[in-house]
Amino acid sequence: MIWARAAFVFVRVSLGMLVALSFSPPAWGYEHGRSEYGARLHLTSLPAQVRLATPMPGFSDGGRGAMLRAMATWSRVSCGAIGFSFVEANAGEDAPIEVRAVLSGWRHGRVIAAHTDVESDKFTGEIRRVVIELDATRRWSDAENVPADAIDLETVLLHELGHAAGLAHSVQPSAVMRAGLVPGHAPRRALDPDDVAGMCASYAAPVLEKKDKRSVPTDAGRSFVSAPRALALLAALGAGIASWRRRRKARVISRSDPGSARADA
Ligand SMILES: [Zn+2]
Repeated sequence: MIWARAAFVFVRVSLGMLVALSFSPPAWGYEHGRSEYGARLHLTSLPAQVRLATPMPGFSDGGRGAMLRAMATWSRVSCGAIGFSFVEANAGEDAPIEVRAVLSGWRHGRVIAAHTDVESDKFTGEIRRVVIELDATRRWSDAENVPADAIDLETVLLHELGHAAGLAHSVQPSAVMRAGLVPGHAPRRALDPDDVAGMCASYAAPVLEKKDKRSVPTDAGRSFVSAPRALALLAALGAGIASWRRRRKARVISRSDPGSARADA
């Protein structure tokens, strides 16, 4: 008896632990950028167009390859049915996101090598314009082995494009959105699950919500037969058929047995 009770308590405790383990939320470190009034920053027009406005000196392609690779890395994030993506703007076309190598007059001090300025609607958090600035007077690298005094361009662009999409910094050490890089660091060109979770929190749920809100009034206004009306019609049709069958049966029975017909009516 005592053994049975002990086993029961053990099972209950184990189940309790299982429940506690499976329902504990993952410890994400990402943060969202917020507008002046606290709205979550997000891009509304997807794919988001990016333009290399001022090429980086010292790179044969001006850093465009690194920019396109960083854009592609974020574009691979898929949040259920909705995929987030960046696309390069056509030549001469204005884009909401600009990348500029700043050749002189760097305004952000010696500690900061890159800076992203995000202009947004203070009520909705919709991002209107983004300028990513890179201090061109530093040594930048595109190599797998970053020289001791250089910074990997793709790593930095991946981080700054995260800001362009509305993410703030993460406390997760392995996240791309973690702040701070020292020269000579190893390239960090792949996203951490924390970065992906941050993006999906911005671009999966709100977009789905919006779509639902739009489709409800449109469908109700346009459709000839709404769902409740269709159900009512079906019920009425069913009742009509049942009544017709009862009457028909009554007629058939009344022909053969008038007594039963009265009871059935
Ligand atoms: Zn940053």
